[in-house]
Amino acid sequence: MSEEQKTTEKFQFKAEVKKLLDILVHSLYTSREIFLRELISNASDALDKLRFESNKGEKINDAELPYEIKIEYDSKEKILRVKDTGIGMNKWEVISNLGTIAKSGSEEFLKNIQGAQGDANNIIGRFGVGFYSVFMVAKEVVVRSKSYKEGAVAVEWKSDGLGDYEIREVTEELKRGTEIEIHLKDDSTEFAEKYRLEGIVKKHSNFINYPIYIDSERMNTVQAIWREPKSNIKHEQYVEFYKFLTYETDEPMDIIHRSIDAPIQFNALLFIPAKTYDYFWYNKENYGLDLYVRRVMIQHKNKDLLPEYLSFVKGVVDSEDLPLNISRETLQDNSIFMKIAQSVTNQVLNYLIDKAKNEPEKYAAFWKEHGKIFKMGYMDFVNMDKYMELLRFNSSKLNSKDDLTSLADYASRLKEGQKEIYYITGASREALETDPHLEIFKAKDVEVLYFFEPVDEFIFTSLRKYKDYEFKSVDAADFKTLDKFKDVETKEENKEKLSKDDEKHFDSLLAKMKTVLGDRVVEVRESKRLKGSPSCLVSADEGFSSQMHKILKMTNQETGPQKKVFEVNKDNNLIRNLIEIFKKSPDDEYIKNTTEQLYEGALLLEGLLEDPHNLVNRMNKILEETSALYKNSK
Ligand code: ADP
Ligand code: MG
Repeated sequence: MSEEQKTTEKFQFKAEVKKLLDILVHSLYTSREIFLRELISNASDALDKLRFESNKGEKINDAELPYEIKIEYDSKEKILRVKDTGIGMNKWEVISNLGTIAKSGSEEFLKNIQGAQGDANNIIGRFGVGFYSVFMVAKEVVVRSKSYKEGAVAVEWKSDGLGDYEIREVTEELKRGTEIEIHLKDDSTEFAEKYRLEGIVKKHSNFINYPIYIDSERMNTVQAIWREPKSNIKHEQYVEFYKFLTYETDEPMDIIHRSIDAPIQFNALLFIPAKTYDYFWYNKENYGLDLYVRRVMIQHKNKDLLPEYLSFVKGVVDSEDLPLNISRETLQDNSIFMKIAQSVTNQVLNYLIDKAKNEPEKYAAFWKEHGKIFKMGYMDFVNMDKYMELLRFNSSKLNSKDDLTSLADYASRLKEGQKEIYYITGASREALETDPHLEIFKAKDVEVLYFFEPVDEFIFTSLRKYKDYEFKSVDAADFKTLDKFKDVETKEENKEKLSKDDEKHFDSLLAKMKTVLGDRVVEVRESKRLKGSPSCLVSADEGFSSQMHKILKMTNQETGPQKKVFEVNKDNNLIRNLIEIFKKSPDDEYIKNTTEQLYEGALLLEGLLEDPHNLVNRMNKILEETSALYKNSK
């Protein structure tokens, strides 16, 4: 047995690696070239890590080696090599980094590709799929690596990407860094052609911070464009950098390039993507800005430079004022870093405020894409004024479901003496426009914000007010306050007033209805808010609307039984008829059935009816009876 065989060990890939390999090898064709982007990105990470250790004052193997990435190809042998002089790996690191799925790229990719149904090619480019993507083009991969640590032993890792890999210690002379040797598949020999490699590097890796050579020819112009004056940068360069950074294919919606000198120096180049992708929601880790100190990458996707509700923003921040050897763990405690973070957040918020002011249509487009995430900023007490200024909603005063109003605009339309900002939640604008709760608001011409997402109400409950105006759900509105405003539109203007006597009968009818409904409602009373509908349900306890109860119930929070008041409109024709029937025969079944029907109908509108069977059966019965009457009248 030779020395080499003795020290060779075989390992199985972990199950999730096999799954990833299977997807990469079998379902992806058009995005294959991104394997090179992934290898170069790993090489660049390895160089970043080395620079970081070196800045900390660690001793480094082969200290004289330049920081660089080399690509070599051999078209005859169909071999491609990607080499770096970065941090390298020892045996244990090779096993844990290349034998399992590393935290970031690949894992995200796996999660998302499983959710994405089919179109793998389309989303693969958006992710850092990681090292394993090399098996899209390789029939065998040999990794040789030597750690930067003094006394490190070089290792070799070899696999065909099918099920296992082997590792041996390398006795030959090897310098610090990592070499990935790729034996190309027969259908992938294009990746041993210079023009092809050049094209890929230019397209995907042009902004890598270290020189990349293809056969000793320098490919990229290392350029930290965020440190250049704005006037030096062309729009296309920004876009190219954005695509490099995010793996997006569309142009960004916004580019925010800032150079701040006081009190703390930093450069920021930030982008707002044109689209928000659904994967954000099950991929919440995939955000953050890249943090540089004097052009040196300190942390990829730092999550503390911006609050989570601005996590749709992509980009880089680079400061002269942070120490180069700052550790990622202590960043949050560093007061300079905290000031930079505050300032970056301010830059973004101010940018959005300007955009909202100067280009309201473009701001509306921004809101459609990113508003959902932005709204989650209701806990940012430091920036509360700006946050509120940027909120947008649909409302009863707007012409269509796509129009938006700010709270400031709502406030400018307040009625004299109006102290509340009203809102209602519903499935759609159409549904809300026929909601009985809004009848009084229409009659009084008082604006109501329309919420289409249950979370809006949750946010408003937490915000409580805008300036001095309290947020109030329409079904918790105090009628006395509304009554102060004059009617502008009365549907039932000429309705004859009830006689004194009939008023009494109406009161008795309400008492009768309460007996029918029992404990299901806390009260049955005359409605002042209805201007057309016969009846509706309103909250007895201020503040919590039906929607809110539903949210709390969904999140398993105890809200206690909902206290509802059943309100009846005495000017409605149906109710007028009921009064007449009641006068003649107070215990008539018809009154009981109609009360039940009206109550369940109101529940249905609130989204609170749990079982529609009784309602439908009763309705069919009523239709049967009215059809008989109708037939006989013909
Ligand atoms: P990610 O880069 O998202 O962590 P990868 O699958 O691309 O995932 O790489 C897995 C891990 O393998 C890396 O995190 C790194 O630790 C290690 N690695 C890959 N390539 C290199 C390299 N050229 N030099 C040093 N370590 C590397
Ligand atoms: Mg990687």
